[in-house]
Amino acid sequence: MQFTILGCFSPFSPYKGACSGYLLENGKIKIMIDCGNGSFANLQKFIDYKELDCLILTHFHSDHFNDFDMLRKAYQLLHQNGKRSNPLIIYAPAEGEFFDKVSSYPELFAVIPIEDSLEKDIRFGEMVLRFFEARHTVACYGIKAKKGQKKISYTSDTSFFEMMADEVLDSDYLFAEASLLEKDTEKTRHGHMTAKQAGKLAQMAKAKNLVLTHINPTYNPHILKREAETTFEGTVEIAKMMKTYK
Ligand SMILES: [Zn+2]
Repeated sequence: MQFTILGCFSPFSPYKGACSGYLLENGKIKIMIDCGNGSFANLQKFIDYKELDCLILTHFHSDHFNDFDMLRKAYQLLHQNGKRSNPLIIYAPAEGEFFDKVSSYPELFAVIPIEDSLEKDIRFGEMVLRFFEARHTVACYGIKAKKGQKKISYTSDTSFFEMMADEVLDSDYLFAEASLLEKDTEKTRHGHMTAKQAGKLAQMAKAKNLVLTHINPTYNPHILKREAETTFEGTVEIAKMMKTYK
């Protein structure tokens, strides 16, 4: 399994950055997770977008979703030009107008509500995915991917809660949102974690490596890393644009 950072910034993207987007791969299986500004262009550095097996939209906030329209237009052309005939599988929260929007292209997309897929193993070859409920301001889901004994987890946007450690337990790589510095802790009420909480989560979950993501471009990343290291004894990294973690 490998996990590539196509975008890791929020609430906006700096020069040469992009908002939330990730590529999860196992052999020929290619899954895009979230589709924030700039991430769809970055995807094309690594794969031909017509080869995607699945798109997962963890929630409908613009920094995770804005490039959906770009992907949709690219897929319309693929179908018009006879380069793809089968619909792309999309998992998304069954919430409101955005779910209806994503679902309104049945020839392009086969949309599955994440709520119908909770507690279920979703198999892609040898890789098994599971969703878990995050705590955010809108319906939002984290993801864990397993292949044999190896595990990669992604929290998406969430505030800290202890039971999340069970979900992401024993992750080889935990990609955890660290939207906030300690000095801004009161903003966790908007459904986000501090870097220190991300570290606490990784420690409770006995993660091997913690990668902080959902990075505010106005913060000093070294301070975020240092704050996470106060609560986690393992390796802490700041998500790096276009880096692949294997
Ligand atoms: Zn969000």
